[in-house]
Amino acid sequence: MPNIAYQSPWMNDDLRTFRKTVRRFIQEELAPHQARWRQQHRPDAEAWTKAGEAGVLLTDVPEKYGGGGGTFAHEAVVTEELAQAGIHFGCGVHSIVAHYILAYGSEDQKHRWLAGMSRGELVGAIAMTEPGAGSDLQGIKTTALRDGQHYVVSGSKTFITNGWHANLICLAVKTDPKAAGLKGISLIIVERQNLAGYRVGSSLEKVGMHAQDTCEIFFDEVRVPVSNLLGSAEGLGFSQMMEQLSYERLSIGLGAVASSELALAITTKYVKERMAFGKPLMEFQNTRFKLAECKTQSHIGRVFIDHCIERFVAGQLDPVTAAMGKYWLTESQCRIIDECVQLHGGYGYMAEYPIARMWADSRVQRIYAGTNEIMKEVIAWSL
Ligand SMILES: Cc1cc2nc3c(=O)[nH]c(=O)nc-3n(C[C@H](O)[C@H](O)[C@H](O)COP(=O)(O)OP(=O)(O)OC[C@H]3O[C@@H](n4cnc5c(N)ncnc54)[C@H](O)[C@@H]3O)c2cc1C
Repeated sequence: MPNIAYQSPWMNDDLRTFRKTVRRFIQEELAPHQARWRQQHRPDAEAWTKAGEAGVLLTDVPEKYGGGGGTFAHEAVVTEELAQAGIHFGCGVHSIVAHYILAYGSEDQKHRWLAGMSRGELVGAIAMTEPGAGSDLQGIKTTALRDGQHYVVSGSKTFITNGWHANLICLAVKTDPKAAGLKGISLIIVERQNLAGYRVGSSLEKVGMHAQDTCEIFFDEVRVPVSNLLGSAEGLGFSQMMEQLSYERLSIGLGAVASSELALAITTKYVKERMAFGKPLMEFQNTRFKLAECKTQSHIGRVFIDHCIERFVAGQLDPVTAAMGKYWLTESQCRIIDECVQLHGGYGYMAEYPIARMWADSRVQRIYAGTNEIMKEVIAWSL
């Protein structure tokens, strides 16, 4: 029987060449620093400008705004390479912020911010979640109240990825605290440079993803120009978030698939080398069956995410399919990695083993960007 390797249908020669550039950048500029970044709970600031120089930021933003001029397939290559190196670097969130600006920003805003983001001089964060409101965004309490040509912003956000380094924050606020439900929510861009009243808390101590920058941020009557509102009017923030969340959910689903594939490869190698009862673990039927199940699940995930990527590139990925991807692929990732830990025995629980770190890192995938329970609600609304 010929062993015909599966190829993602969206892959082409241009992307294969780009993949080599991304892989070299990760191996030379990110991988050597991982142990130290895990200790300090964030990458070095220079990692961002180096990523900009290497051309791995904003790969799917048009060249006229300073981006790479590619499609989501280029972002997919970056996401896959990071996941397959087991590295968490917030360039996915950075891209999400760029896409909010691209979708709702004025020409002036796009020219002002996107080129700097592409060079890694501006680092993006998206700040929706608050201590009292995560899934239920209508409960946010951060306000932005008009005072002449400025908004006066007060409140706090938590769990903010890239929070430490971010100098361009896409912030969900209530511009009309009296408006019912979600109607009073707007998105404004906060430029952090020399900003009175703005404060970043210390890095949050997480269960996994220790090298990723996650912080609380605080606003005490911070003045933001009214011209930093995203969109043509106040009150559009919730619908803007709903439109853009598919991009984030697609990226997370893809990271889940790439990480499952890595776990499978690491574990297959391990069970062929590790001996018990005088033979490699691979010779036990249970090992083979577990890995056969994992491989099947991982392949189903791959085919589904490739379908989602193709639809997204064609402008046809609907929010329900994106929610299905985020939900199912992250659940599958956690199941696969958990089986892989089991097949490593005690070594699977030791932090020096990549599979142990992957286990801890993967858990949050079911929680952020909308919990998987919220994904099921989104899917169920379509029934
Ligand atoms: C490492 C990390 C990075 C993050 N990065 C960011 C970021 O960059 N920016 C940002 O804004 N946020 C970020 N988040 C926040 C994340 O998106 C929220 O944690 C998530 O949306 C859940 O909100 P919550 O934590 O308030 O949980 P809650 O909303 O309190 O939910 C608690 C539980 O209740 C369930 N639940 C809630 N409502 C319903 C419902 N209607 N039906 C059924 N079950 C429900 C949830 O599914 C969950 O199981 C990050 C979180 C983490 C941990």
